[in-house]
Amino acid sequence: MSGATQTLAFRLLQLNRLKKAVLESEKALNEALYADLKKTPEEAWATEIGFFMNELNYTIDHIKSWLQPTSVPTNLLNQPSSCFTIREPLGVVCIIGPWNYPFQLLFTPLIGAIAGGNCVVLKPSEFAPTTSKVMQQIINSLFPDNYILYVEGEGAQVLPPMFNEFRFDHIFYTGSTEVGKIIYKAAAEKLVPVTLELGGKSPALIAADANMKVAARRIATTKFSNAGQMCVAPDYILVPTAFKDVLIEELIKAIQQFYGKDAANTEGYGKIINNKQWSRLVQYFNDGKIVYGGKSDASSLFIEPTILTDIKVDAKVMQDEIFGPILPVLTYDSNEEALEIINRHPNPLAFYVFTSNEATQDYWLTKVPSGGACVNNASWHLTNHALPFGGRGYSGMGGYHGKSSFDTFTHLKAVMKTPTWIDPDLKYPPYKGKGWLLKKLIG
Ligand code: NAD
Repeated sequence: MSGATQTLAFRLLQLNRLKKAVLESEKALNEALYADLKKTPEEAWATEIGFFMNELNYTIDHIKSWLQPTSVPTNLLNQPSSCFTIREPLGVVCIIGPWNYPFQLLFTPLIGAIAGGNCVVLKPSEFAPTTSKVMQQIINSLFPDNYILYVEGEGAQVLPPMFNEFRFDHIFYTGSTEVGKIIYKAAAEKLVPVTLELGGKSPALIAADANMKVAARRIATTKFSNAGQMCVAPDYILVPTAFKDVLIEELIKAIQQFYGKDAANTEGYGKIINNKQWSRLVQYFNDGKIVYGGKSDASSLFIEPTILTDIKVDAKVMQDEIFGPILPVLTYDSNEEALEIINRHPNPLAFYVFTSNEATQDYWLTKVPSGGACVNNASWHLTNHALPFGGRGYSGMGGYHGKSSFDTFTHLKAVMKTPTWIDPDLKYPPYKGKGWLLKKLIG
């Protein structure tokens, strides 16, 4: 309300201060991400800190132009007014993060919120506590509480009372679809707009003409990165029956090339976040035939990259979002059959189609409504900040990254500016006798 957060100079200053503080905390963040999820510094840079830096630098470079009013044409009725849109801060926004990319998924939306000129409440996940502590230190060392407030604690305890007492101007939530519904309901009570970045089962569909080796390598890269705890990880594969064996052979080759034959002792392979998730995941081993992997260890929260086949489509592993390093490979003999399986979980966050044929690509992109999609790739679409990132329906609403983040955290205000030097009677009552002119001007 004081207007302090609104000037371009203020926003740029805060973004640059944040940049400096994060770079100075890189070592602490690396150690924390290793402690919470066994992420190596290289992975931490590619998927968390570097990802954030890329977005931050892009925003710093473009914020000035994004803040410029945008002129739009004025229709005949309103001549000689001029019309334009301006981007207005939303006010006080709440950003709620999950544990799987605990830094990136809390701090990347923060860039958009600061760039938008807002005040922020940041709520990290309680399940990545070491990273949360480092993030808290960064925020508290830079910003006063009445600008950016960092709130730790269990979501179900901390957030509902806050939503009761205070009306946020926007809630930006990343997490499960289940909790997303709770957030959406709470927001609806006070008509608070939301961005929901949720999960779901993202399919990887392989067409008969796909390059199987490349498909296997690209799917394995994202499926087993962060031990499969990635919202856009390919959840399961659909492959034509005739190509199942060759695909599995290539998947195994890729896994062994990436993590060796003993992933448990491979530095670059992550761990499951906690016991609850580990216990949930190992249950899925019973839902099919293990053709690769299957080893697990509760004490080190390890689950081996695992390929499952012979799965019934109504098995639990095909109902839940897997969110772990277990990869069901299902076969299909017709596009209709594959579509029927995909449509059991409509609106996935991402959809991946592997094909060498443009018509096949178009067919699948048209047939499967999803938040985002890749052709012959998996998950890398989210690393291009020129593409908006978000879900649709069950996988969420709204989007962010790059300019989309700025748009998400600002209101597009429509303005008409009318000069006073001309003031024709036409626009004033009584309108009797002016019908012919109104018909000419309106319609
Ligand atoms: P989660 O829904 O359990 O928790 C997310 C946040 O919500 C946490 O900060 C938590 O404290 C809070 N929370 C939990 N219960 C709450 C309640 N009852 N009321 C208010 N707040 C509550 O999600 P998670 O387990 O941390 O993350 C995994 C899920 O997130 C997966 O489904 C995954 O697909 C999804 N995800 C989506 C994206 C995306 O960008 N779309 C990114 C990462 C993860």
